[in-house]
Amino acid sequence: MQGKTAIVTGASRGIGRAVAAALAKQGANVVINYAGNEKAAEETKAICEGYGAQTLLIQGNVAKAEDCSRIVEETLNTFGTVDILVNNAGITRDNLLMRMSEEDFDQVIDTNLKGTYFMMKAVSRTMMKKRYGRIVNMASVVGLIGNSGQVNYAASKAGVIGMTKSFAREIAARGITVNAVAPGFIATDMTAALPSEAAEAISSSIPQGKMGTPEDVAEAVVFFASEQAGYITGQVLCVDGGMAM
Ligand code: NAP
Repeated sequence: MQGKTAIVTGASRGIGRAVAAALAKQGANVVINYAGNEKAAEETKAICEGYGAQTLLIQGNVAKAEDCSRIVEETLNTFGTVDILVNNAGITRDNLLMRMSEEDFDQVIDTNLKGTYFMMKAVSRTMMKKRYGRIVNMASVVGLIGNSGQVNYAASKAGVIGMTKSFAREIAARGITVNAVAPGFIATDMTAALPSEAAEAISSSIPQGKMGTPEDVAEAVVFFASEQAGYITGQVLCVDGGMAM
């Protein structure tokens, strides 16, 4: 990926950090987006630079169209192009449907689903002009099989899958691929918030009997983002220890 430029949203922590590091290791220039945690984003930057990558740190809320446009603009100003977009930023606001507020529903949809739409739209002109692009969207097995307490999150991730396949069809002839990775139960801050009994119950329902790591997910993202995956588009790859098969 030498000379390629990648934007990773939500790259300050968790899966996004692992993805940024894995792309840096492959030689890509890495744009590290984060929402508010600048210190963590600086740590990701240091990790990427440790692999010899050129980096750019950009604060920006992917739920806002203007922030997404700015992220891409600043990337173009610095690196002149964008070859890879990883839409990883995501949040949860869990509750049973009957108790879920409209605000919690909207926040999750705005960040996970609309954020992905805004970012894909913002990079599409550049990628179409150069007839090259790799877009990887972070879905979830919850978007495929559902999960109690996550109607908002499941809707957002199912939406990401539908959007991935639709945009993949729209731009397939332009040398741009659009794929999704659907992680299962991965050890990050997002899952650390779960009570330990709930985490144990989920782990025991996974055929491999354990949680995955952010690095497990990053490997799948790097594959879709590679030149070698050029004839693969509109696909959803589960990285879940067998959870959703
Ligand atoms: P995480 O540890 O909670 O990290 C979330 C990342 O997203 C942080 O870098 C955060 O930035 C960023 N972010 C949140 N809201 C944002 C916004 N509005 N704009 C820009 N960045 C924003 O989460 P994770 O577990 O690594 O999850 C990463 C992705 O994988 C998400 O899309 C998630 O839905 C998906 N996923 C995770 C799992 C899992 O088990 N962990 C399973 C399936 C799918 P700050 O640090 O600045 O807050």
